[in-house]
Amino acid sequence: MKLRTETLKLILHHPFETAHGRSSSQTCVVVFLEQEGIIGIGEAASCTYLNQCAPETEKVLARMEEYLPTDAFELEDTMRILEDRFPEFPAARCAIDTALHDMVGKRTGLPLYRYFGLSAGEARKTSFTIGIDTVEMVEKKVDEARNYSILKIKLGGKNDIDVVKAVRKLTDATLRVDANAAWKPAEAEKKMKALADLGVEFVEQPLARADIAGHRKLKSKGILPIMLDETVQTSRDIPGVADACDAVNVKLTKAGGLREAHRMIATAHACGLSVMLGCMVASSVKITASAHLSPLAEYLDLDGNLLVANDPYRGLISAFGEMLLPDGPGLGLVDAYGPHDFHD
Ligand SMILES: [Mg+2]
Repeated sequence: MKLRTETLKLILHHPFETAHGRSSSQTCVVVFLEQEGIIGIGEAASCTYLNQCAPETEKVLARMEEYLPTDAFELEDTMRILEDRFPEFPAARCAIDTALHDMVGKRTGLPLYRYFGLSAGEARKTSFTIGIDTVEMVEKKVDEARNYSILKIKLGGKNDIDVVKAVRKLTDATLRVDANAAWKPAEAEKKMKALADLGVEFVEQPLARADIAGHRKLKSKGILPIMLDETVQTSRDIPGVADACDAVNVKLTKAGGLREAHRMIATAHACGLSVMLGCMVASSVKITASAHLSPLAEYLDLDGNLLVANDPYRGLISAFGEMLLPDGPGLGLVDAYGPHDFHD
C-alpha cells in the first residue's frame, strides 16, 4: 500500500476566533492511500490545543507508511498498532483511518454509513458556528447565517452576554454556546443563568479542560445542560465524566478516526450521555467522513467546511445546515481522486 500526502491551506470566509486563538486560515494534510488501483482519502486537521500541526503531521504520516496493512480491511489491528506507536498524533491517525475506511467502502461498494449499519434517513441538521467578535461583527455574521436554524456562538470573550442578547434579538434560531474552557466557576454559574434566560439550549466546555470536579458541581446546579469537548478525547475519558456533564462532543481528530469515534459514541450512550458530532475547521474530506456517523448522534456541529472559502472537495451535500449523506462508495467524494501518480 502506497501513501502520499498533500498539504492544503484552507482560507476562511471570516477570521475565526475562539477562546483558544484567532486565525484567518487553517492548514490540513490530505492523505492518499493506494493499492491495486483503489485510492482512499483521509484528512488530518490542525488543532492548536491538541498540538496537532501540519508540518509535524506530514512527517509522522511518512513514518506511518511502513505500518500500513496489506489488506485495507485490517482496520482494528492497524489502528491499534498506530495508536501504540504514535499516541501523540491523533490527527495523522485519523487521516489513515479515514483513508482505509474509504478503501473498504470502495472494495465493498458501500457508502460508509451503510458499512456502519446506519440509515441515511432524512436530511440532518448541523449548527453553524459564529466565532468570537465585536457585537457589530457578530450581528453581521448572524445576518449572513439567517438561513441556518441552529447557531453555535463561541464565547469566552469580554462581551459574552451582550453578544448572545444581540443574537437573540436578531433570530429565533436554536442557540448553543461554546466557552472553550475560558470561564472560572463563579463566572460560569452567573453567565449560564443569563444564557438560560436567553433560551440557550446548552453550554459547551464552560470550565478548564482538567476541571472535572468543577463541571460536576456546575452540573449539580441544573442551570443548563453541559456538553464536554476539550475534557474528552477518546472513549477512555468518558466514564469518568458521566456525572459531570450531560453530553460529549465527539470529533474524529481527537479520536484518531472513525473507529474510535464510533466507540466513543457507544461509550457515551452506555454512560447515559448524549452525543454531538463536532469538527475542527477542515475540508469536505473530513466533514464528510464525520457525517457518515451522523445518524448515531443527537446533535451535529459539522460546519468546518462551511467556514472555508476554498474547499477543493465535494462530498456531503450541505444546504443551510441541512445535510444529505452521499451515496457513492466509501466517503462518496466527487471528483476527488484525480490523476495522482503513485508509481515509483
Ligand atoms: Mg467545542
